[in-house]
Amino acid sequence: LFITFEGPDGSGKTTQIERLRSFVEKKGYDAVLTREPGGTAISEKIREIILDRNNTEMDPMTEALLYAASRAQHVAQVIKPALESGRAVICDRFIDSSIVYQGFGRKLGDCVRIINEYAVGGCFPDITFLLKVDPEIGKGRIRPDAQDRLDMEKLEYHRAVYQAYEELEKNDPDRIIGIDASRGIDEISNEIKSHIERILG
Ligand code: C5P
Ligand code: MG
Repeated sequence: LFITFEGPDGSGKTTQIERLRSFVEKKGYDAVLTREPGGTAISEKIREIILDRNNTEMDPMTEALLYAASRAQHVAQVIKPALESGRAVICDRFIDSSIVYQGFGRKLGDCVRIINEYAVGGCFPDITFLLKVDPEIGKGRIRPDAQDRLDMEKLEYHRAVYQAYEELEKNDPDRIIGIDASRGIDEISNEIKSHIERILG
């Protein structure tokens, strides 16, 4: 069982992932919680390069390839082995983040999807929760001192990204479940759990 969470910064992904962990464990799964960019020693090093606020000169294609490189390592070293041994993997961001942030936000287009299809080697999520909150509200939840290089992007960038998320949701409604994340934490987590119940049958 491979579950991913997507959505703007400040949409509450981390809180919901923690909640879902205990639920999935109650269902008898051994759960692996992980995040992108990151999840392995090498991928965390790549994350530092990507998010460093001093790296203002980073070329968009460099950024896209670094995310893909971080992901390739993450899939090979953590996600694939965990899934093969029957564990549930819950990941904070995955391939959809690249498609929206680099494909649409950075306007690199479809090559981002293609690169990342190589990076994940056939390992796609069974279900993806898109936590939907206005990017402006999400932005307001991030402490200024906690802002990374991408958080410092203009609001228009984050709006373009959000629109792209909504497109993905429309085009792949069986996998991508949009969740109204402007509500209370319990309401949101109950909705997420009901979807997991449904797919576990
Ligand atoms: O979710 P988290 O805050 O850890 O993500 C780190 C940063 O990387 C965020 O600012 C997010 O917007 C950005 N990001 C990105 N492209 C991706 C994944 C994340 O720009 N493919
Ligand atoms: Mg962030």
